[in-house]
Amino acid sequence: MRLQIIHMSLLTIGTVAFDTIETPYGKVERVIGGACTYISWSASYFTNKIHLVSVVGDDFPEEELKAMENRGVDLAGLEIKKGEKSFFWSGRYHNNMNSRDTLVTDLNVLADFHPVVPEKARSAKYIMLGNLTPAIQGMVLDQLDGTQKLIVLDTMNFWMDVALEELKKVISRVHVLTINDEEARQLSGEHSLVKAARVILEMGPKILIVKKGEHGALLFQGEEIFYAPALPLAEVFDPTGAGDTFAGGFIGYLASTDDLSAQNIKKAIVVGSAMASFCVEDFSLNRLKTLSPAEINERIQKFKDLVHFEM
Ligand code: AMP
Repeated sequence: MRLQIIHMSLLTIGTVAFDTIETPYGKVERVIGGACTYISWSASYFTNKIHLVSVVGDDFPEEELKAMENRGVDLAGLEIKKGEKSFFWSGRYHNNMNSRDTLVTDLNVLADFHPVVPEKARSAKYIMLGNLTPAIQGMVLDQLDGTQKLIVLDTMNFWMDVALEELKKVISRVHVLTINDEEARQLSGEHSLVKAARVILEMGPKILIVKKGEHGALLFQGEEIFYAPALPLAEVFDPTGAGDTFAGGFIGYLASTDDLSAQNIKKAIVVGSAMASFCVEDFSLNRLKTLSPAEINERIQKFKDLVHFEM
């Protein structure tokens, strides 16, 4: 598959944060994280016209922001709150790396954030509403000019626990919802993912993507189901951000090809899975920051080989 860098506008929102993470491989403290950070880095390998809307405190390193700008991420929509702390999350992974416990979620700057989408970003055609307060995701949608081609929403169990009604409102306004299998079960009240998908697609989105960690991702679109595996890796260092990296690759690829056919959406799922497979190879964004287009192409080819068979 040829990757191309063209100028389609993509708006990304979500947390830009510090994380403390424990995995069986070790512990890292206050490293760079956040849903929007992973999404933007991942998408930047496909499009260089990214508008980021988020909030940090003045404790967030300037060089990290510069590094994102160098990748084509426009930070006009990033509010830096003086004297306040950035969002902080801490989690510990279980031995199987597929499940984790959240130890701390400090909203900090996020607690009282009113996003302002810069004028130039209101007409962005591709929108990635990364994980953060559902009400804030809704406020961003309110500011768009209505010409959007694709709006994707990611969220997590935390928001289902504390803001379910608000979350359902935003879900009803988007085209694609990405969540993991446990979250799909929680949101729908159904154990079977096929039944869960039916319930969730009734809530508004046309497409549901269920992320299953090391077991890949399922796409539900009408009655059609498509499966993309995850790459079997000898070592998974840190799964943090894999879902966001998937989302960034998925929408970044769609924004760069500007093709929303069912076939291209399947390709985008494979691209997202390939990007996620890099993310988990190291802590924080370390691996995502050093990729080359050749490596990405090679990885996508591996995915093709993984599922190719003839009868
Ligand atoms: P993922 O592993 O894809 O679920 O994403 C992990 C990232 O999401 C971490 O870098 C965290 O900073 C961020 N995060 C954790 N909890 C939340 C939350 N409740 N809302 C928004 N972002 C979060």
